[in-house]
Amino acid sequence: MATALDIAKRNPHAAPLAVTDAARAAGLETLAIEKKAELTVVAGTALGGGASLVGLTRDQLKDKLGQIGVPEREQKMRAAQIWHWIYLRGARDFSQMTNVGKSLRAALSGTYTLDRPEVMSEQVSKDGTRKWLIRMAPTSAHDKGAEIECVYIPESDRGTLCVSSQVGCTLTCSFCHTGTQRLVRNLTAAEIVAQLVVARDRIGDWPDACPPDDGFLPREAPRFVTNIVFMGMGEPLYNTSEVIDAIGVLADNEGLGLSRRRITVSTSGVVPQIERLGQDANTMLAISLHAVRDELRNELVPINRKYSIATLLDACRAYPGLSNARRITFEYVMLKGVNDSDADARELVRLLKGIPAKINLIPFNPWPGSKFECSDWDRIERFSDIVYRAGYASPVRTPRGRDILAACGQLKSETEKLRARARLMLEQGIGAEDVPALGDSA
Ligand code: SAH
Ligand code: SF4
Repeated sequence: MATALDIAKRNPHAAPLAVTDAARAAGLETLAIEKKAELTVVAGTALGGGASLVGLTRDQLKDKLGQIGVPEREQKMRAAQIWHWIYLRGARDFSQMTNVGKSLRAALSGTYTLDRPEVMSEQVSKDGTRKWLIRMAPTSAHDKGAEIECVYIPESDRGTLCVSSQVGCTLTCSFCHTGTQRLVRNLTAAEIVAQLVVARDRIGDWPDACPPDDGFLPREAPRFVTNIVFMGMGEPLYNTSEVIDAIGVLADNEGLGLSRRRITVSTSGVVPQIERLGQDANTMLAISLHAVRDELRNELVPINRKYSIATLLDACRAYPGLSNARRITFEYVMLKGVNDSDADARELVRLLKGIPAKINLIPFNPWPGSKFECSDWDRIERFSDIVYRAGYASPVRTPRGRDILAACGQLKSETEKLRARARLMLEQGIGAEDVPALGDSA
């Protein structure tokens, strides 16, 4: 491994002092765990005033068929046919559904649509990462349609789609851009699933579709989207029911066909929902740990004030299906002088002892107005080294799509003008892409 530069050697007091100073500078002492959501829409509100069938679960699809007079005994079979067209073929028009009778097709198109949420913008990073700003269909006459961001990260042998589970986030992690967004509501299961449908439309990931020619796609993978991570906007376990329903659709073998082992739900630590996620969705779990002492985690990830590190790790030990083949990923954002000392690394290893775990070090991604800095690269390497020597693969997540603000924690759907200083920070950040990843981030 590359030369290690131990900043503690230069200044033995650097880490503890920096923690306090950074926390004070960020005004963290008074930070609330949650901010009040400005808008709450009851989960389950259908897309487009109930008109679009895209994103629905099988049961919801059967209900829709019942509403246009399809007799109950036929509903299961008809739903299966329509399911196939929507999720396996990416159909955009009922006329494509050649095995569905003409009269039913006419009834369907008279009442329903196959509309997707609207793509307001698409940005393609120089590393191939794509970010879409997606506007959901309005849910009422007064709603303009909530906007969320969704990011696609291609690698040679896989394509990962990072989906949002909420518009904004009610939690207020101090290093995360999404946490500063004021407008917050839960996405419905259909709105979550629709993000994959939109992604497949845009990158031509349906049978017979044409892929775009601007940007890199994973040609060595069976599909362009092979993995899903719930690491976009929002706290998935504050929207557990809809997230579980969405996973049911994403993982359905006769439809979108994503393996549950290739779906990862990341949580800041909503302890009471963790077991339910494992039992009902059976996905991989990622925990946004980011600190090894409650005092600091209370400031960085304020939900820690409700559920301490020890409580969180107990829930992890009890995660259904946990084994060496199905490890929990612990995410750790590298914040300069805040959580990146050797002592932190050693404590991290001690805390996770006995839990089948992967540790994912994430270089902090700056955003306009953020108060933290990313740890220096040699500090990250030194931290990674300690973790590695303790027996963990410790991949450092290569920042992807920083030039289009698409990296972890940079998502925010309100249009904000970048100030000159923020631009500069981003430009500096882009340089970090040249730094090689130390391992695989999956
Ligand atoms: N709310 C969930 C999932 C979304 S955030 C959660 O917190 O786990 C996805 C990951 O990005 C989390 O680990 C989060 O802590 C991390 N993250 C947030 N802001 C970041 C930033 N500015 N730089 C790097 N990672 C960040
Ligand atoms: Fe919400 Fe996750 Fe950001 Fe925290 S890190 S504010 S939980 S999206």
